[in-house]
Amino acid sequence: MQFWYKIKIIYIVFTVSIIQVAIMAFAQVKPVKDPETYRKQVNTDSMQKMIEIKAFIPNIIYDLRYSTKNNFTHTKLYKNDDVTFLRLPVAVALQKVEKELNEKGYGLKVFDAYRPYAVTKKMWDLIHDERYVADPSKGSGHNRGLSIDLTIIILKDGTELNMGTGFDNFTDTAHHIFTDLPVMVLQNRNVLKQMMEKYGFKALETEWWHYSWPNDRNYEVLDLDFKKLKKYAH
Ligand SMILES: [Zn+2]
Repeated sequence: MQFWYKIKIIYIVFTVSIIQVAIMAFAQVKPVKDPETYRKQVNTDSMQKMIEIKAFIPNIIYDLRYSTKNNFTHTKLYKNDDVTFLRLPVAVALQKVEKELNEKGYGLKVFDAYRPYAVTKKMWDLIHDERYVADPSKGSGHNRGLSIDLTIIILKDGTELNMGTGFDNFTDTAHHIFTDLPVMVLQNRNVLKQMMEKYGFKALETEWWHYSWPNDRNYEVLDLDFKKLKKYAH
């Protein structure tokens, strides 16, 4: 009896593993690597277009940390000639945020937006911890041109508002529900959150700097480098 019981358990574990592997293979993202495929997608749906943010919002400030060593991996993760991208509706929404902030004497500073899929894989190989980097099997909002990491600056001198932590601070202090902070910091975070949400972005509970656009058109994961996208951006 015990022998057959063991066989049964082994059989169940084996079957479950096979199913898990099959599900993982099915769920694995297939990034768009070919610029021609991307171009065709844009031709059939112009909302898929990746827009160079600064060309669209000239007074926005870039501090693209992953193109420098000034990031949590201490490694240059990509070369991008100071350009970055978002899908068209996301860029339009961001333009509205910038405009409203400008009227109040503030502006936006971007730490990261589009991230080619290969870069997410590189981050995963370096860190391999889902608390800090996106699991490449799913693909992230950044890979789809839907997510942006940013903060608010004072327009006249470029000073960043105090948000309590820097960008890519992976402690509880960076969480939206963490309220043991000076009132001014909470207010600053709240201004960013309210402005972004007003124009359709969603906050991420664990990172005050990260905002995402809903994946409402099934935007695909892209693995096109910045140079290729720049070619198609105009
Ligand atoms: Zn982010």
